[in-house]
Amino acid sequence: MEFEEYARKQERTSPNGSDIIMVALGLTGESGEFADLVKKHLFQGHEMDREKLIDELGDVLWYIFEGARVLGVAPSEIADRNISKLRKRYPEGFDSERSINRPE
Ligand SMILES: [Mg+2]
Repeated sequence: MEFEEYARKQERTSPNGSDIIMVALGLTGESGEFADLVKKHLFQGHEMDREKLIDELGDVLWYIFEGARVLGVAPSEIADRNISKLRKRYPEGFDSERSINRPE
């Protein structure tokens, strides 16, 4: 699914009054749910539940698109800016040395 199509479908479930605070709390909450699944696998004997992990990433994605709407930026611009930043940080691909000692 393309960004624009997802944005249209995601907006259908956006509540009235959505704002940056709701987005920040939602992103944190859904990221926490993702981390909790990994914690349960590593420390509590649970099977790694790939399907639930994918679902939680979807919930994070929902909030990313909600944040884009609140900030008035196209999701594709967020993606472009992120790739541009990473291209500057890791011009030859990921590099531990550049990760540890960031040039910027
Ligand atoms: Mg969730």
